[in-house]
Amino acid sequence: MVRIKLMAGHPSIVIMGLICLAAFAALAVAGPWWAWLLAPLGIGAQLLNEYNLHRYVFHLKPPRRQWAFDLLYQAHYGHHDFPTNTRLFFVPIVLPP
Ligand SMILES: [Zn+2]
Repeated sequence: MVRIKLMAGHPSIVIMGLICLAAFAALAVAGPWWAWLLAPLGIGAQLLNEYNLHRYVFHLKPPRRQWAFDLLYQAHYGHHDFPTNTRLFFVPIVLPP
């Protein structure tokens, strides 16, 4: 429960949730009815995309160059070392030097 609370309160999740709400509102107001049938397809495609990104990019063999390792650590490895550190939940928009 603590982890779900941490995730749900993360600014990235809040922003993505608001964007989703805006997209559903726009679809409800201006979209054709059949577009709703594509939503499950989009959700499935995004889940597959997330899995493949995680599996094949974020878990690459650790790079030898320090800067590349630091980049991948900040982007994802660190999340596994410190799972409750909210700064390591998602890839930051701007990586620290
Ligand atoms: Zn991972």
